[in-house]
Amino acid sequence: MTIPLRERVPLAPFTTLGLGGPARYFQECTTEPELREALTAARERGLRVQIIGGGSNLVIADAGFPGLVLKVAIGGVTLRDAADGAELVAGAGVEWDALVRQAVERGWAGIECLSGIPGTVGATPIQNVGAYGQEIADTLVSVRCLERDSLAEVVFTREQCEFVYRGSRFKGRDRDRYVVLEVTLQLRRDTLPQVRYAELVQAVGRHGGLEHLEPREAVRVVRDTVLELRRRKSMVLDPTDPNARSVGSFFVNPVLSAEAFDELARRRRAAGEVDGIPQFPADGRVKVPAAWLIEHAGFAKGYRLGGVGISTHHALALVNHRGTTTELLALAQSIEQAVYERFGVRLEREPVVVG
Ligand SMILES: Cc1cc2nc3c(=O)[nH]c(=O)nc-3n(C[C@H](O)[C@H](O)[C@H](O)COP(=O)(O)OP(=O)(O)OC[C@H]3O[C@@H](n4cnc5c(N)ncnc54)[C@H](O)[C@@H]3O)c2cc1C
Repeated sequence: MTIPLRERVPLAPFTTLGLGGPARYFQECTTEPELREALTAARERGLRVQIIGGGSNLVIADAGFPGLVLKVAIGGVTLRDAADGAELVAGAGVEWDALVRQAVERGWAGIECLSGIPGTVGATPIQNVGAYGQEIADTLVSVRCLERDSLAEVVFTREQCEFVYRGSRFKGRDRDRYVVLEVTLQLRRDTLPQVRYAELVQAVGRHGGLEHLEPREAVRVVRDTVLELRRRKSMVLDPTDPNARSVGSFFVNPVLSAEAFDELARRRRAAGEVDGIPQFPADGRVKVPAAWLIEHAGFAKGYRLGGVGISTHHALALVNHRGTTTELLALAQSIEQAVYERFGVRLEREPVVVG
């Protein structure tokens, strides 16, 4: 063992939920050599490794994590004008929203709808973060990684990341295999931002629209509008907001085959329910808002059970009110069961459960 590892470090303060027990060992790595050294130390000791960034998509078990938690805090941002746009290269530990802000200040378009998402740059490819009609897959050029076992450096192009809705190879078949070191994005210069998401289109319209604006100003208006919408739903980190101790959305929106959606509609008719099910086309399939399913399965916004509950502003966000992870996961399970019994749809959890 070459480096001393911190021992029995509480993990709750490293997460936005504020839940969970300690890490047996903990190390923050601000450089690639530190990361290599820590991974080597873990291998020598036969320790399991859990990588974390900003902890905004993590549910830590009450018992904590019995191995080594590595917090990736590698910094560094390079912004370059390129012939056909602008290139951004950012270290995995850079705060995501700070990067968005820098791009928007320069008037570069492509990630402005992803304003206000907590966490680090390195986590964005893991679940292909997305919001308001944009996802990181739209602008990502490549991801530079370290393979945890061999310590070999590997670069994945966008295609090789196998991005899907709220997922990628890093959350799927290569889960826990790589550490993201750096992400390269390609943004657009001198073009108006594209706004497609209906709620955002309307909100931007209330601010007078984008058509009469210079591209630089338009990108800023989109960012400000997204932040405003997110604040209303407690979807930005605000320590004074009691709804803020969450991981954002706890469930992803189910994407159903046409047959499964017809079956869902049939069930509703058979139960005498007349109001339509909200639906969005998704590459030949049908996306149904998980929040709608949850509320119609009997779990209203503001619902409380012991020390946990549902956000008063968003049915998808489970909130910690000084409870435990056991309580939170029990609530998640009750919601899943109620939605399945009522609609025959299995909800999928978005955050990563550790421990
Ligand atoms: C209020 C709120 C709003 C949110 N809104 C959105 C939203 O609109 N859209 C959305 O997609 N998400 C949203 N999220 C979820 C979360 O912010 C994102 O998933 C974010 O990208 C997680 O980043 P993080 O650094 O906090 O990752 P962590 O929570 O620390 O880790 C998440 C996962 O990524 C892995 N990971 C982290 N860093 C690395 C790395 N360098 N290399 C390899 N693996 C890594 C971890 O091992 C873990 O599996 C929201 C969360 C909150 C609390």
